[in-house]
Amino acid sequence: MIRDQDTMTALLDTVRRFVRDTLVPREEWVAEHDQIPDDVVRQMKEIGLFGLTVPEQYGGLGVTMEEEALVMIEMGKTSPAFRSLFGTTVGIGSQGILMDGTEAQKREWLPRLASGELIASFALTEPEAGSDAASLTTRAVRDGDDYVIHGTKRYITNAPHAGVFTLMARSEPDQPGHKGVSAFIVDACSPGISLGKPDRKMGQRGAHTCDVVFDGCRVPAENIIGGEPGRGFSTAMKVLEKGRIHIAAICVGVAERMLDDALRYAMERKQFGQAVAEFQLVQAMLADCRTEIYAARSMVMDAARRRDLGENVATEASCCKYYASEMCGRVADRAVQIHGGAGYMSEYGIERFYRDVRLFRIYEGTSQIQQLVIARNMMREAG
Ligand SMILES: Cc1cc2nc3c(=O)[nH]c(=O)nc-3n(C[C@H](O)[C@H](O)[C@H](O)COP(=O)(O)OP(=O)(O)OC[C@H]3O[C@@H](n4cnc5c(N)ncnc54)[C@H](O)[C@@H]3O)c2cc1C
Repeated sequence: MIRDQDTMTALLDTVRRFVRDTLVPREEWVAEHDQIPDDVVRQMKEIGLFGLTVPEQYGGLGVTMEEEALVMIEMGKTSPAFRSLFGTTVGIGSQGILMDGTEAQKREWLPRLASGELIASFALTEPEAGSDAASLTTRAVRDGDDYVIHGTKRYITNAPHAGVFTLMARSEPDQPGHKGVSAFIVDACSPGISLGKPDRKMGQRGAHTCDVVFDGCRVPAENIIGGEPGRGFSTAMKVLEKGRIHIAAICVGVAERMLDDALRYAMERKQFGQAVAEFQLVQAMLADCRTEIYAARSMVMDAARRRDLGENVATEASCCKYYASEMCGRVADRAVQIHGGAGYMSEYGIERFYRDVRLFRIYEGTSQIQQLVIARNMMREAG
């Protein structure tokens, strides 16, 4: 749902200009230095990107899912590391508070997240609990008015920059699986939290992940999201469901960028006396990319619009994440192929995108987990 077309057009123009004039020229620098320059972060705050999904009454732009998807497609047209910096705050980091938090929690945390003063991270994965997130073992033991947290979270995006964590921990030891999990809002400055060394990743340099170790960290009981223990897993799944449309939109944007680069190269590069774009085998690769991007974009926009209308889009969100992330991998592969040897060389940038997009098929639910979700929902509906 687009609330106001003029405002949306202006926002998309601003984001497009920001991507083209500020981010694209810095892609190589960011990859080389593994950091995002301060002036870029400042501009992200000015545009309102950290508060994109936070409702206006808490200081954000309060975009709808359709609007968010359109912004994310534009943001996708540059290195995904840029999106990652504000993406966890806009997406998985803050959505738990927004969806299930009490009014007091929203008032306390959302304005500072929306302004970019605080970055939010989402801490679900553990060394022994990845796809099987409900088996998490981080403990939250009640002690007076607090819970005391022990456990390790793994691969947490933006943990080195986080001001606050949405942390999933087992507060009800008698309840097996997902029923015993609560979601906590944890101030990252709390004593008893330490960070592992930064992970050395395949791609997306400039975006940082690391372990977060909770060793006797005290969290006030009032920081349980929604105030009621045992509902954290449901909060986490709701957050991830929405996140799947967000990630799928990014995949569409990055795929469009890679295809633009590949098309431009194919029209310039000459072999056998003509541009390689004239060869039908190269045209087939270009056409396959264009077709699959169109399919993914249509899926994302449909799921986003239906979510805005209040429909249950659990299956569609997984279809989007599954198809768009796999599509993005195929487009990256063809884009490298179209570049020939140049596609393997770092100066052309396409090999960087090839590595960067590999992550989309893994985090926020692997492709296999999306397949399981889709099939299980189909069986439930049929039964
Ligand atoms: C760069 C990066 C950033 C991340 N950021 C965050 C973050 O901010 N917060 C957070 O909580 N987590 C984060 N993660 C963790 C991410 O969500 C997990 O890595 C992902 O969910 C997969 O879990 P795993 O790595 O333990 O793989 P596993 O669960 O060990 O999976 C290994 C393989 O087995 C397959 N598999 C597992 N179970 C099944 C099954 N039932 N059926 C079929 N196949 C199956 C998987 O699809 C995969 O192919 C991040 C990961 C990375 C790499």
